[in-house]
Amino acid sequence: MSNHSENEFELSNEEMHLYSRQILLDGWDIDAQERLKLANVLIIGAGGIGCTSGELLARAGVGKITIIDADTIEISNLQRQIAFTGNDLGRYKAEILAKHLQEINPHIHVSYQNSRFDETNADDLVQHQDVVLDGCDNFTTRYLVNMVCKKYQVPLISASAIGFEGQLFMADSDSACYECLFPKEEHANEGLRCAESGVLATTPVIMASLQAHHTLLFLGLGSTPLKQKLLVWNGLNLSQRILQFEKDANCPVCQAT
Ligand SMILES: [Zn+2]
Repeated sequence: MSNHSENEFELSNEEMHLYSRQILLDGWDIDAQERLKLANVLIIGAGGIGCTSGELLARAGVGKITIIDADTIEISNLQRQIAFTGNDLGRYKAEILAKHLQEINPHIHVSYQNSRFDETNADDLVQHQDVVLDGCDNFTTRYLVNMVCKKYQVPLISASAIGFEGQLFMADSDSACYECLFPKEEHANEGLRCAESGVLATTPVIMASLQAHHTLLFLGLGSTPLKQKLLVWNGLNLSQRILQFEKDANCPVCQAT
């Protein structure tokens, strides 16, 4: 057998070594690892959430990662956005994170857009993905991500961290969506931004790790433990709750699909 696989979807010998601790797992085999290699994942937001979830997915072997974020790196980001250093100040987050992930794992394909996720690019970015990871910092983007994922039946795994608390949920094609959970008229004007509320260094990293973990379970094994459920993590007493939520009969996003 040569070192280079004839089939680009098969794992090379080097990849087999790189991912050996996963392939050794009970319940995680070469097929699961190859499913990761074949997967297309979009990461929306290269901040505290996206830096960590992106790095874990790259290391774990997710084959194609696209990152979108319009922001540039500021000194106040370095406390929690683990892909960046003081040398990166002023540069685009999406670009620096993408280069970092590509260096970590040369066997995957990483692309990026230094722009906002908005109506002009949402359809193109979402429709061919196997899963979308939302780690953005505002409700306007979050509602748009939810709507476009629902439109193309692309599963969404959304994480947020603010203060000492984090949230994580998954919406799949036939499940309740983000807007069922948080009706737009009640939440559209609320802030999600760390710039206003503060955030401990660890909180986004923990929530992003859970987001990446769920993504690996979904891509590798097809399991959806948080489908239509909201996980709320309390960073002061280290407890977590998992709340089941239901479809909202009045949800405009679910009604449209
Ligand atoms: Zn809905």
